[in-house]
Amino acid sequence: GKRINGAVNSALSNTQDDYVAAVDVMLKSIVTALLESDVNIRLVSSLRNSIRNTLLENKNRSMGSMQTKKLVQKTVFDELCSLVDCEAQPFQPKKKKQNVIMFVGLQGSGKTTSCTKLAVYYSKRGFKVGLVCADTFRAGAFDQLKQNAIKARIPFYGSYTDTNPVKVAADGVSKFKKEKFDIIIVDTSGRHRQEEELFQEMVEISQVVKPNQTIMVLDASIGQAAEQQSKAFKDSSDFGAIILTKMDGHAKGGGAISAVAATNTPIIFIGTGEHVHDFEKFSPKSFISKLLGIGDMESLLEQYRTVSNKEDHEATLENLQKGKFTLLDFQKQMQTIMKMGPLSNIANMIPGMGQMMNQISEEETSTKMKRMIFVLDSMTKKELESDGRIFTEQPSRLVRVARGSGATVFDVEMILMQQQMMARMAQTSRAAQQGGGMPGMSG
Ligand code: GDP
Ligand code: MG
Repeated sequence: GKRINGAVNSALSNTQDDYVAAVDVMLKSIVTALLESDVNIRLVSSLRNSIRNTLLENKNRSMGSMQTKKLVQKTVFDELCSLVDCEAQPFQPKKKKQNVIMFVGLQGSGKTTSCTKLAVYYSKRGFKVGLVCADTFRAGAFDQLKQNAIKARIPFYGSYTDTNPVKVAADGVSKFKKEKFDIIIVDTSGRHRQEEELFQEMVEISQVVKPNQTIMVLDASIGQAAEQQSKAFKDSSDFGAIILTKMDGHAKGGGAISAVAATNTPIIFIGTGEHVHDFEKFSPKSFISKLLGIGDMESLLEQYRTVSNKEDHEATLENLQKGKFTLLDFQKQMQTIMKMGPLSNIANMIPGMGQMMNQISEEETSTKMKRMIFVLDSMTKKELESDGRIFTEQPSRLVRVARGSGATVFDVEMILMQQQMMARMAQTSRAAQQGGGMPGMSG
């Protein structure tokens, strides 16, 4: 119920012109950012209006411009989170019951990969899981699932000769049911040569396997097509959850917001790579932070806590909580990150780093990180404990560190830039904890 009545509106426009103008400027930059991240145009526009109304309603005359900015930031963040934070309860498989999970989604979206990831996820939690390949359309589909399943040690079912996907699905499910499997995951085809036929096939398969849960797989790079596509799948297969794949790539998954909004269906997991363990529970806050470019501070801290030596890093965590991040913190973090691997995943959580590392191989990434560590090792205690500005004040330090580590001055500058980014993120993150924050809008 966010509305604004004419009285409030005119009162504001008479006395609070500056406030309204400031809100509009901030909203404009946010709208641009959201559109660039593929968030649905209509959604952005309604979001803009709803945020604007909230802001105008909440306007407190004594509020300063800093407070106004914080309020804008918090409102945008909260509104976006509430868009992807579906209230619908996700499916929970029941032990001692046979749960059938069916996958739908276009070819190439990542169904077969995500099927295996989900199978491993449940298998680790004590469920007996089987995989059924009902993609009889694409040559090699069964071999792909089979290879994935063997690698992950998940029992599988499929056929090289039977070309009827409905029959193969039914046979596989009944086989695993007889064998008392807890969870039976059915992978389907996603050919799009004749869309009608694909949707008809989904209807028929779901009639015979009677899934307890249907999951739609969506590629994060889907963009504006997400709404139409998810609606079409919803009509034919009434899925109850979404898995968003390829979140390790350049796309930030803005399109997924419209899929959630159009179908009122929650995202449950995200795929963050091709490997079976590149699979994470969906978190609205992390997702929106990443979309807005805040960097995934929460996940990073979480991972950091699990691998870092507690005493060694207490100081860093303390600094981060204070909104600080020194070069020494950066050095410790680099050392920890080397232990966290695979590096490309970690790199994605650090703003600016993911893009830098995306084009290069794991090996090159590792070499690059090692070089960064050499550079940091060549700094003095005073330099490390500083916020990095000491290098701008005394550029001769740059040259000394570069020489000492066999790097170029440019390499050193890059590292300083990264530490600065982290420092800003620490600040933003602290601001967010204290009531909403967004990048590029602090100060
Ligand atoms: P399907 O046609 O829907 O079954 O899609 P696949 O599971 O065969 O995946 C298509 C391609 O996307 C494969 O090369 C996968 O390795 C890749 N893939 C799937 N999920 C992810 C992911 O989360 N990240 C990345 N980088 N690649 C993925
Ligand atoms: Mg497939």
